[in-house]
Amino acid sequence: MTTKQAPTPLQKMGLDSPMALALHLPSRYEDETELLTIEEAVSHGRYGAVQTQGLVVRNQVLFRPRRQMIVTIEDQAETLQLRFLNFYPSQQKQMAVGAHLRVRGDIRDGFQGNEMVHPTVRAVFPDTPLPTSLTPVYPASAGISQTIIRKAVTQALRDPSLKESLAEFLPKKLMAQLLPSNDWPHLQAAITYLHQPPADANTQALLERTHPAWRRVQFEELLAQQISLKRAHALRRERNAPSFGKPDQKESSIEAGLLKALPFKLTGAQNRVWSEIGDDLSHSFPMNRLLQGDVGSGKTVVAALAAARAMDHGYQAAVMAPTEILAEQHYLKMKEWFEPLGINIAWLSGSLKAKAKRLAQESIESGTAQLIIGTHALIQENVSFAKLGLAVIDEQHRFGVRQRLEIQQRVGSETFYCHQLMMSATPIPRTLAMTYYADLDVSVIDELPPGRKPISTKVVKASRRDEVISGLQSWLEKGLQAYWVCPLIEESEVLQLQTAVESFEQLTLALPGFKVGLVHGRLKADEKAAVMAAFKANQIQLLVATTVIEVGVDVPNAALMVIEHAERFGYAQIHQLRGRVGRGSADSVCILMYAEPLSMAAKERLQTLREISDGFVIAERDLSLRGPGELLGAKQSGDAMLRFVDLQRDAWLIELAQQAADRLLADHGDIVERHLERWLGSRAEFLKA
Ligand code: ADP
Ligand code: MG
Repeated sequence: MTTKQAPTPLQKMGLDSPMALALHLPSRYEDETELLTIEEAVSHGRYGAVQTQGLVVRNQVLFRPRRQMIVTIEDQAETLQLRFLNFYPSQQKQMAVGAHLRVRGDIRDGFQGNEMVHPTVRAVFPDTPLPTSLTPVYPASAGISQTIIRKAVTQALRDPSLKESLAEFLPKKLMAQLLPSNDWPHLQAAITYLHQPPADANTQALLERTHPAWRRVQFEELLAQQISLKRAHALRRERNAPSFGKPDQKESSIEAGLLKALPFKLTGAQNRVWSEIGDDLSHSFPMNRLLQGDVGSGKTVVAALAAARAMDHGYQAAVMAPTEILAEQHYLKMKEWFEPLGINIAWLSGSLKAKAKRLAQESIESGTAQLIIGTHALIQENVSFAKLGLAVIDEQHRFGVRQRLEIQQRVGSETFYCHQLMMSATPIPRTLAMTYYADLDVSVIDELPPGRKPISTKVVKASRRDEVISGLQSWLEKGLQAYWVCPLIEESEVLQLQTAVESFEQLTLALPGFKVGLVHGRLKADEKAAVMAAFKANQIQLLVATTVIEVGVDVPNAALMVIEHAERFGYAQIHQLRGRVGRGSADSVCILMYAEPLSMAAKERLQTLREISDGFVIAERDLSLRGPGELLGAKQSGDAMLRFVDLQRDAWLIELAQQAADRLLADHGDIVERHLERWLGSRAEFLKA
């Protein structure tokens, strides 16, 4: 058959080969290995599902009040009602009088005595044997039945090709050294066990995925990942990038000029990370470094130093940020620092007029632009760099892995790579860094610039809005400025705008004598810039904003922030937002206003945020709630890397897999290839980013 057919529901779920089916592991199990008489079922079935069977003696469709089917079955001693509120004609037929049914469900009191509502039903013969293994329940997309998946999996497990695809690669000796009390089954045995665990299996360990059979599979997956990360690491060292050593003529360098012009001294932490980065830049293979530092820790100046170093060597440097406002902040700051040194800076964003855009593109392409600042436009628009030596990517988790690969392609050469510096205020917990980013070097700024005051965070009911506003008034009367943040309303940008406009109008009325400004995502870039500039110049005292100011905005005199509907924000968002205040010398305050009713989760979140100001601790909480994908932007890569591993639960396995990966790479090159192919296939590419 060569005609193209529409994909079956199984194929749509990606279950298109024996191997794919074998790796489609159950999410839980049902115990159908035990059969009770109806009498026993009735007395045990109030505390959990039970299985029994009997002959159908009556099948009625009633209307009271809704259409429903009541089926009565009986065995030697007892009868039982089965109630179906939804049913198909095929089920009516299956459960006709005279059929023999095996049913599984909870027992409850019905109108006419004991009943099961929507039990699982199978037509059987009185002597149909019971299964000897637990019945797997699989993850399934809507409209695909467990029966279909179970059949397909059972068939796949018998497929001779699995012997090869699931062959045991791991050398016995290696495993014995790593795991002295190794009780892990071989891979194929582990997979079979997980699909068809015997009746006496430790179901709790199976559910919690801590059973040795699970461990075996998780280890395989992590091993593949660690191997490919390590290979990416080695591969990067074979690539060519321009080497940027410390400038020879130190005094007249751009770098020295920048350092001299700065109105402050670098902190110890900034000096340390700058020397780590400087060291990377001096190598002739591309840097791939993440600069982590809490909001306000001063990452920008470190990026500027790296850019200066590249420019000192006659190369271009680019800075890319995820939002227009943030990119613009960088642009203004870099202009302030670099223009007096005679550097030619280009600005590129999607909202530029056609002519300005073309001019920017030309200067980037010809190389007259030495420093290029912009948004996604740097990779989306038709840009090719004359001589890009360094790409700085701010708030890297906002970009997808693909986009980070993309910037490399803009360099225009397959044999020549630029150095990459990623920056993030969202700390990445160690377990994550080890698994997702083994090929990423990490520098941490763990010290805030001197003179910063801690931010005190308050949690206030929305019903006390008037009090908050009068507090705001006395704040402004002291000559200080403030932010008023309106929440993101994901369902509706219009609604979001509307609430922001309402708050703006209300606050304008409530605070005569002060200028209130409004900034939101719908404004044009130059309008936004005008509002931000006026706020920075203190022509605006209170800035009402949607979350467009989430990252990077820097106005030291604004030390109060009110966040409306704080319960709708996530940990990281609030932490980043409040990092906008606490940058000047005034005591800083962040007021989290919430509307009731408050969910347990939101309550806990606000409380944590009130008590904890350490971004690292907050990120850990965030990780346990949201999972790694969102934190890293891995979701945007389209494929979660790890299917069976939970980074928190299985952290110890990661270290084991790392050791095994080292040993395999050193001594068993042939195994490495087969292992990678089996587990990652095309996904391995993402690990290079
Ligand atoms: P972030 O790490 O959040 O990007 P920024 O780079 O925007 O932080 O820096 C926050 C503020 O701190 C800026 O106003 C910056 O000029 C200032 N700053 C940075 N480094 C120092 C320092 N060593 N001493 C004093 N102020 C600093
Ligand atoms: Mg920043």
